[in-house]
Parts: sequence; structure tokens; C-alpha cells
Amino acid sequence: MDNKNIFLRHTAQTSPFPFAIEIERADGIYLYDKQGKKYIDLISGISVSNLGHGHPKIKEAIKQQVDKHLFVMVYGEYIQDSNVQLAKKLADLLPPNLDTTYFVNSGTEANEGALKLAKRHTGRTEIIACYGAYHGSTHGSLSISSNEVKKAAFRPLLPDVKFIHFNKEEDLELITQKTACVIIEPIQGDAGVRIPSKSYLQKLRRKCNETGTVLIFDEVQTGFGRTGSLFAFEQFDVVPDILTMGKAMGGGMPIGAFTTSYDMMQKLTHNPMLGHITTFGGHPVVCASALASLNALIDEKIIDDVHKKGDLFLTKLKHPLIKEIRSRGLMFAIEMENFEIVNQVVEKCLELGLIGFWFLSTKNSFRIAPPLIISIEEIDQACEIILQSMQHVYQQNPKLIE
Ligand code: PMP
Repeated sequence: MDNKNIFLRHTAQTSPFPFAIEIERADGIYLYDKQGKKYIDLISGISVSNLGHGHPKIKEAIKQQVDKHLFVMVYGEYIQDSNVQLAKKLADLLPPNLDTTYFVNSGTEANEGALKLAKRHTGRTEIIACYGAYHGSTHGSLSISSNEVKKAAFRPLLPDVKFIHFNKEEDLELITQKTACVIIEPIQGDAGVRIPSKSYLQKLRRKCNETGTVLIFDEVQTGFGRTGSLFAFEQFDVVPDILTMGKAMGGGMPIGAFTTSYDMMQKLTHNPMLGHITTFGGHPVVCASALASLNALIDEKIIDDVHKKGDLFLTKLKHPLIKEIRSRGLMFAIEMENFEIVNQVVEKCLELGLIGFWFLSTKNSFRIAPPLIISIEEIDQACEIILQSMQHVYQQNPKLIE
């Protein structure tokens, strides 16, 4: 059996249509398959490889940590250099009330921890989330995600969850003194890159203050420079009570985290003790990679050019098939007529050596989220391929356009 058949037969499949590119190696913004075909990775593994593939400082930090030690103990017991230094670096970079971090293994687990902490902190049970939200695939995160098709088969889910419309100020009235927390992506990802008004997020903040409700920002996708600031919330002048992160945090290694104040985080230490636990959270090799990645992001001033690069994509991506582009920084949803056209464009791009991807819930758009290190010349090349693919699909489908 060759690897492709083993992949299809013996590794769990998430959909009947996997990309199934057989990866040989990755470097910068490029992936190479076993047949030697080169692809521009314009999705960064869905907003993960923000520093591209194979950043030398990340690789070096991982190697050094591997030589010192791998896993030694469950989270929270031993003092491990990379783990504590990462927590300190985050505390230095974030506002003062976000100075204590709990390391977990994924975005969904970060959100699970944040929900538990909000319940424990307030003694309340009601959770408010947004239509269009995606927060992960475990039971708790699924409960606060919006896609009904993805949820229906797995009920019962968490009780006492209510949904409000994203960016609709009237709905903020639903937040009351019964509400433990509101969890929201400050820029919605899976909804197709939806950007709220500054005043909406500020009113949300005020309403949470008035009702004693914990405000959780899920920045799993928007974090670590993707939208042109270290975290998207900085662009709205609103600070959450709990910040969740994942994806790009690890520099290509699996990690998630939730960060809050020292006082609030104490609630997971007492009544009950060990209120949240994980074996592998804060893994030393993963934290070494995350720390090197965060240092490189800051020291190499990579975020400084994100808006400029984003604007360049917007200037170049002009085609009759495009109905709308919603974006912030280097996070884009490119909307076209329908799923069929989106599909054909994504597939043509793949054939021409460029990887774009669908959204889970937004069928008429596709996403691009390139590594933030993409150069101006590489943006030119990438846009050239996207436009060529669109032109091909346009010419093939005169009827679809009518
Ligand atoms: N929150 C958001 C906003 C996400 O985009 C994702 C992943 N797409 C998650 C949470 C879940 O992260 P993970 O897949 O690491 O569990």
C-alpha cells in the first residue's frame, strides 16, 4: 500500500474530499509535494504558519530544547524554562489585566478552559455566543459555535447557551446579571471575515461591566499578527477579561492558551483544586517553539507590514467573478457568486500551484491567509495565479455568471 492509500484507508478522514497533497518539505511560503510540485501556501495551514515554514530561529529553539529535555511532567507542577518565559513574554506584551496564562494544547481546549473559568468566577451558568461563530469541535466549543448542521448530530450539548447577532447593538440587551460570559471573535473568521464596528465592541464591553459578565475574546485565528496587530482587539480599544489563543501561537507546534488576571485565574486553583488540568499543556518543546516564534514576530517587526501587504492584495485582486472581499490585515474572505464557482477557483488554483481554502460555514467565499512574511514579489505571483484561475473559471462558465 502506498502512503496515499494508507492515508485514505487507515487515517480517519474528516471529509470525502481531502486535498491529499503528499508533502515532502516546506520552506518559507512554499510547500513541495513528493512529485516535486511547488505550491504557494496561501492559507498557512489555516492561519498557523504566520512566520512561514521552517523559520531558522524556531527550528533552532526546538532543537535546543529537544537536547535538554522533552516532556517531564503534567502541566502545572515543574518549573520549565521555555514555559515560564513564554508566560512572561505574553504578560509583557498584553494589557495589565491579562498577565496570567494557562497553557493547553489547542484552540478548542483554550475555549473550554475559558468557559469553565467564567462559570467558576461568576457562579453563573448562562453563556452567550454569536451567530456565525466558530470556537472549536469539542462538546463545549461546539455548543457555542453557530453552524447548526455541524451541531445537530451531537446533541445534547451544553445547556444555557444563547446566541446574539454579531455586531447588532440591540442584541446586547440579552446580556444580564444571569450571564456568566460572552464569548466572541473580535473579527469572525469562519463567518467569512466579519468585522464589527468599534462602537459595538465597546458597548459590549460596557454591558459586560454593568452586568458583571466575563468578556472572552477568542483570538485563536486572529492572534499573533494576522490582522495587523499582535491581537485584533488592540484595533478596537477594547480589552477582554479572558483572551484565548492557539493556531499561530506555536510557530507550527500544537498549543493553545487562555490568559486572564492573576486573581481570576486563581479560581481554577481552589474550590475545586485542580479546576482545570491537562497532561501535555505547556509542553517544553512546544513552548520553546512558541517563544521563539513570538520573539521573531516582535524582533523582526513582521507585523509592521501586514496592513500594507493586505492592501496590496486588495489592489491586485480585481476580477468580475469577485463580488466582495472582506479582510483585515492578511486575513481575507473572497466572495463569489456561489459555492460551485468558489470550488472551481480553489481547484484551479491548486492545479496552478497555489493553495487557498474553503470556509466551514461560508460557502460562497474562499479564504486566503498567507504567511505574514510573504514578500511583495510573492504577493504579485500569488495574485497572478488567483486571477488566472478566476479567468479560467469565468470563461468555462458563462451561464453561472448570468
Ligand atoms: N476558535 C477559532 C476562532 C478558530 O478559528 C478555531 C479553529 N479554526 C478554533 C477556535 C479551534 O481551534 P483548534 O482547531 O485548535 O481546536
